[in-house]
Amino acid sequence: MTDFNILQDPDMGDEPPRDALHVSLPSGISFADGLGVVEAVLEADTSRHESIVVSIGDTPQAMTSRTFLAANFDMTGLMGPGAAQRQELPGQPAKYVPLHYSCPVCGAEQYRVRALAGLRCPNDCGPMVLDSQ
Ligand SMILES: [Zn+2]
Repeated sequence: MTDFNILQDPDMGDEPPRDALHVSLPSGISFADGLGVVEAVLEADTSRHESIVVSIGDTPQAMTSRTFLAANFDMTGLMGPGAAQRQELPGQPAKYVPLHYSCPVCGAEQYRVRALAGLRCPNDCGPMVLDSQ
């Protein structure tokens, strides 16, 4: 049980959808920082995934959705233009920068705060590719 469990969308089933966006946070991250990373990921997610799995390392903490997060948490990144400007204000450096990985086989996408060699697709396709950003 961690703070991140409260991100769980009660309407989600037991299994994450195949097309869910995975966000992996480093252990020890504070809830506020973790929420900030999730927000940054959702803002950067050009595919506009609806289902999101939030993990600490490789341990899932919450299966949630863009709709649930927008309705229950103050995440300006979900709202569109303006949010991006706010994030670029000086004095708010990103402590954690999410790195985007994708699976060349099925297109699964995952964000991880730390680079990890040999990251495997959650759908068992094989290795995921780190995109340069
Ligand atoms: Zn895959």
